[in-house]
Amino acid sequence: MLRRDAERRLVLTSSFPRISFAHLPTPLEEMPRLTKTLDGPRLLIKRDDQTGLAIGGNKTRKLEFSIAEALRRNADTVVTVGAAQSNHCRQAAAATARCGLRCILVLRGDEPAEWNGNLLLDHLLGAQVRFSGARDRAEVAAQVMQEEQAAGRRPFFIPLGASDEFGAMGYVAAMEELAEQLRERQMRADRIVFASSSAGTQAGLCAGAKALSLKSQLAAIAIDSTRAELQADVAAIAIPTLRRLGLAIPFSAEDVSVYDGYLGAGYGIMGAPEKEAIELTARTEGILLDPVYTGRAMAGLIDLIHQGEFGKHETIIFWHTGGAPALFAYAQQFKH
Ligand SMILES: *Cc1c(COP(=O)(O)O)cnc(C)c1O
Repeated sequence: MLRRDAERRLVLTSSFPRISFAHLPTPLEEMPRLTKTLDGPRLLIKRDDQTGLAIGGNKTRKLEFSIAEALRRNADTVVTVGAAQSNHCRQAAAATARCGLRCILVLRGDEPAEWNGNLLLDHLLGAQVRFSGARDRAEVAAQVMQEEQAAGRRPFFIPLGASDEFGAMGYVAAMEELAEQLRERQMRADRIVFASSSAGTQAGLCAGAKALSLKSQLAAIAIDSTRAELQADVAAIAIPTLRRLGLAIPFSAEDVSVYDGYLGAGYGIMGAPEKEAIELTARTEGILLDPVYTGRAMAGLIDLIHQGEFGKHETIIFWHTGGAPALFAYAQQFKH
C-alpha cells in the first residue's frame, strides 16, 4: 500500500520535460494565531513563497516546465514580459541564469527613478531590462524577438506570468503535491484560496484537481480581472493543459470559481484592505505577504470570513504565491 502511494506521486506530469529549480515539497503549515484572531475557520498556508529560487514564489514551479520547453527547442535566449515589480520576471531572470540562457525582460511603462524590489534583483541576476514606455508591451516584445532572430540567436518567448499549457503544468504538479500532503495527514480542505491574475496558476490547480477528483473548492481571488474574464482565461489554459496530460476530462468556464469583489483601485495599487491584511498576517504569524497579489487575496479571504461566506467549521488552505520582494518598493506607503 505504501509502495503504491509512493508510485502515485507526480504521475500526472512525470512525462513532461522539467528542470528542477524549486525546493519541494513546500511546507503546509497551520496558522493558529490568525485563525484565532479572525475567530474563523481553521486556516493553513501552503508556502510557495518558499520555493527557494532567488526569494521564491509561484513562477518558480511554472518555469520548471517553461524553461525546459525553451531548452527542448534549443533556445539560447528567453524573452518575457511583466510589470516593473514583476515577480515572474525576477524568477525568470534567476532560472535562465541557472541554465546559462540570456534573458530579456520587457517591462511595462517607464523606468522608475529607483531600482528597488524585484527590479533591483532583475539587474543583479543579469537580465537585460527594456521598458516599453508609451508603447504596447506585447508589440515591444515582438520586436525584441525579431531583433534576436535577426542577430542569429534562438529566442523563446514565455508569456505573461508563464501562463500557458507549459507553465500551468507546474501547478498540476503542485496540486498533486498538496493532495499527497493532505493524504499523509488524513485531512481534507474545504477550500483552497489564492490570488489569480494571468490565470496559469489557477488553470494548473483546476486541471490537477479535476484529474485527481479533489473535492475542495478552488476559490480564486481576482487581482485585476472580472469574474467572467478570469473564468475565460483559466478555461483557455486548463483545456489545452488537460489535453497535454492526455485526459479526456471536460472543462469549461463554469468550473472556475472566482471572487472579483476585491479589485480595489486596480493592479499594483495598494489600498487599506491589502495593507491591513499584510500587517495582520505579519504580526500574527510572522509571514510576509505582498502588496499586489497575496495581500489582496488575504484581504479577500478575511472579508469572506467576516461576511460568513466561509464558515467557522471549515478548513481552508491559503496558497501563498510569493511576492514579498515587492514590499520594498512600497515602503513609503507603509510609513504613512
Ligand atoms: C504571478 C503571481 C500571482 C498570480 O499567478 P497567475 O498565475 O498569474 O494567476 C500570484 N501571486 C504572486 C506573488 C505572483 O507573482
